[in-house]
Amino acid sequence: MTIRTQGYATHSATGELSPFSFERRDPRPSDVVIDILYCGICHSDIHSARNEWGWTTYPFIPGHEIIGRVKNVGGKVTKFKAGDLVGVGCLVDSCRTCASCKDGLEQYCENGFTGTYGGEDRIGGTPHPKTFGGYSDKITVDERFVLSIPQNLDAAAAAPLLCAGITTYSPLKHWNIGPGQKVGIIGLGGLGHMGVKFAHAMGAKVVMITTSPEKGEDARKLGADEVLLSTNAQAMEAAQSSFDFLLNTIPVGHDADPYMKLLKRDGTMVVVGAVEPLKQVNGIPFIMGRRSMAGSLIGGLPETQEMLDFCGKYNIVCDIEKIAIRDVNQAYDRTVKGDVKYRFVIDMATLKS
Ligand code: NAP
Ligand code: ZN
Ligand code: ZN
Repeated sequence: MTIRTQGYATHSATGELSPFSFERRDPRPSDVVIDILYCGICHSDIHSARNEWGWTTYPFIPGHEIIGRVKNVGGKVTKFKAGDLVGVGCLVDSCRTCASCKDGLEQYCENGFTGTYGGEDRIGGTPHPKTFGGYSDKITVDERFVLSIPQNLDAAAAAPLLCAGITTYSPLKHWNIGPGQKVGIIGLGGLGHMGVKFAHAMGAKVVMITTSPEKGEDARKLGADEVLLSTNAQAMEAAQSSFDFLLNTIPVGHDADPYMKLLKRDGTMVVVGAVEPLKQVNGIPFIMGRRSMAGSLIGGLPETQEMLDFCGKYNIVCDIEKIAIRDVNQAYDRTVKGDVKYRFVIDMATLKS
């Protein structure tokens, strides 16, 4: 027996997402079956659906910002019960034995994590060899990879915390961002708007670094103290050597030099957006000022729960536009154009209509 599931899939890199029926596995002893309420649209869903990173196989069901209610649980589940509000992010499994997994950094699993979509299911006998994501009405996930959602948070607006939230929270925590530091968030999209909220909540002075002058007012409302237009060469030059830390969410390869020069001595720029080659990097900003560039991938399960609890405490959620699933293809085009404030979230109840 398996669980009949409705979702939206794409069948080629140039195809559109359309209704698709498939089977999920029945719960194993440590599994949780979740009725999905909402799923955010991450730019990574678009890169993957369109095979821009070259690893996608079809049919492909995106979605890794999942919020739902527990429907039922396997016999050995201890953390969850039917009715609980829960989340699933980018990971549904990992080896659990390597040094990274033991440290709760499953995203850096040395044997390769299992992604919520497009991953290889680690245990045989499941209906599909590949994992299918959250643009669907149900999902079965091992309880270790399921998160508790604080009761006070709006369920739809909490969905993008599962990827956009943790991807920005994790580097800010790792690099000890706090009061007295000047932090630049580059790119005001799904990730960037959460980066601004978190850096502000952590007490840093926050500068929104954007290509879009019209987003300045929003950036201030989100918590930015200042706005720097990256297309204004004069303003960029005036801001050189003034930042302690930069979080770069630009979704494509780009020239990193103008941003590196914004860092103070010993400053770090963390790239989370460009999962592809950057333009040739100039060594000068690194050498002249001992600056660093680093990368960061989402976050492990313990830190994702910590981030959700932080959001519960400070009442932080995402700014979203809720859509019906039939409008998902249009939402993809609008996301690529930067025409969303600041994350689309699919209301999964619309799968039934
Ligand atoms: P998004 O909503 O599309 O936002 C990206 C923002 O970057 C845009 O709103 C725009 O902001 C800016 N931008 C776009 N093109 C640009 C260009 N050519 N030059 C300079 N700025 C540009 O995307 P997202 O969902 O936040 O995701 C951002 C990237 O992170 C994606 O590539 C995604 O795949 C990746 N990602 C990585 C991780 C990770 O773990 N490392 C996790 C999730 C997502 P302005 O208008 O303000 O300039
Ligand atoms: Zn994502
Ligand atoms: Zn591992």
